[in-house]
Amino acid sequence: MDGFNLERLVRANIRSLKPYSSARDEFSGQASVWLDANENPHGSALSAENDGLNRYPDPHQSELKQAIAPIKGVKPSQIFLGHGSDEAIDLLFRIFCNPGKDKALIMPPTYGMYKVSAAINDIEIVEAPLTEDFQIDHFEVDGLMEDYNIKLAFVCSPNNPTGNAIETSAIEKLLVSFHGIVVVDEAYIDFCPENSLVNKLDEYPNLVVLQTFSKAWGMAGLRVGMAIASEAIIDLMTAVKPPYNLSQVTQKMVLEALQNQPLVAERTAEILSERRRLYAELLELDMVDEIIPSDANFLLVRIPDHYRAVFDNLISKGIVVRDRNKELYCEGCLRFTVGTAAENDALMDALRTFENQLNDA
Ligand SMILES: *Cc1c(COP(=O)(O)O)cnc(C)c1O
Repeated sequence: MDGFNLERLVRANIRSLKPYSSARDEFSGQASVWLDANENPHGSALSAENDGLNRYPDPHQSELKQAIAPIKGVKPSQIFLGHGSDEAIDLLFRIFCNPGKDKALIMPPTYGMYKVSAAINDIEIVEAPLTEDFQIDHFEVDGLMEDYNIKLAFVCSPNNPTGNAIETSAIEKLLVSFHGIVVVDEAYIDFCPENSLVNKLDEYPNLVVLQTFSKAWGMAGLRVGMAIASEAIIDLMTAVKPPYNLSQVTQKMVLEALQNQPLVAERTAEILSERRRLYAELLELDMVDEIIPSDANFLLVRIPDHYRAVFDNLISKGIVVRDRNKELYCEGCLRFTVGTAAENDALMDALRTFENQLNDA
């Protein structure tokens, strides 16, 4: 972070970008006749109660950001809202990484999207694998700090697919030693809010925190993710995003969900208690070798000899889990999302039946 210079880190074409100015940018006050945006004055073909969609949505998502800011303890100007976290990840590549020249650092085993987004943007990936207990390997990372073509470093905490949170002190060490942007993906942070780095934003101008409405908030189908960072970084993301990246429907739905925070808290608590139950019950199975202690809403479970047979057997019973065997240090691992109590019962029943069949064979 020493000598961190945002201006110098940004691609030249983005530094000189003049953002699109929409009709809603040029006039946003009160009016009764709107003839500025080539909208249809008659409304849509939907029923009246579903309408209001003939007008373009607020490109600044002001009301939504005002509502989210106090929940996150930041200013509205420190929030970027996008079409899932995926949009934020793609924008960060486009703002900071010159195609064919710059690089991004990832720490496998981790979320697959960083690599895909890098490939789409023609950015080379540099890997510094996590330690065997899935924490930042500073020995690996330190050796890369002199490579000034590495512009972004992705840290996923809690990490997907392992489920553990990364130690805050280790992320802070990276924030201090890295000249570029550290992107901390907190998609699962609502399951362990004490691990969030959002309260460190004032200390680290090179920190970008990603969060999402897809997991604890239960709105994966709506596609809303956010980046929380310095005002300067958020200004860049806002300039580069498509102006109307969140639909009117999306903005309205998220605003409505924000009114129901107690319900989200209640369901989060239930998922955590079910996770503890699943952890304990899975450990009782002979075929289970190891379960990574999780800070998220899923468990990575090592079933060394039978993981694929278990996977296939579950599918035959209509239960779909994720095979993570091919990920670094995840040999023989399946990832189970924590479901409802009934779903978790169905999973455990299926696994116990399978184990009994193994023992009888
Ligand atoms: C699920 C997940 C996301 C969420 O992505 P959205 O595009 O917001 O749905 C982001 N990062 C990680 C690590 C995830 O597992």
